[in-house]
Amino acid sequence: MQWLRPLCSGMSPERHFLAQSNIGKTKGDKTIMAAKVDTGKCTGCGLCVDACPVEAITLENDKAKVDEDTCIDCGACVGECPNKAISVE
Ligand code: SF4
Ligand code: SF4
Repeated sequence: MQWLRPLCSGMSPERHFLAQSNIGKTKGDKTIMAAKVDTGKCTGCGLCVDACPVEAITLENDKAKVDEDTCIDCGACVGECPNKAISVE
């Protein structure tokens, strides 16, 4: 079982609820979307990596990369990015 780190300042209560309810759902569940990175805007600062409660983001070649199987679409990374390079739908 995966556990969320404490609620971060970038996550709204609604997102936090969604994140909790998404834990354990499978990739085949069409209600789950993954965060998307605009690599043209990403500077590889790593702030989103630290913000992600389930460690779904890594840096590859100085660009953030989201593991779609791990991402629970909580949105915590979005508010942390200084370049608006990461988004959730
Ligand atoms: S939306 Fe962002 S912070 Fe939330 S799980 Fe996905 S990559 Fe991590
Ligand atoms: S916070 Fe934004 S700029 Fe920094 S690594 Fe993440 S997506 Fe890239």
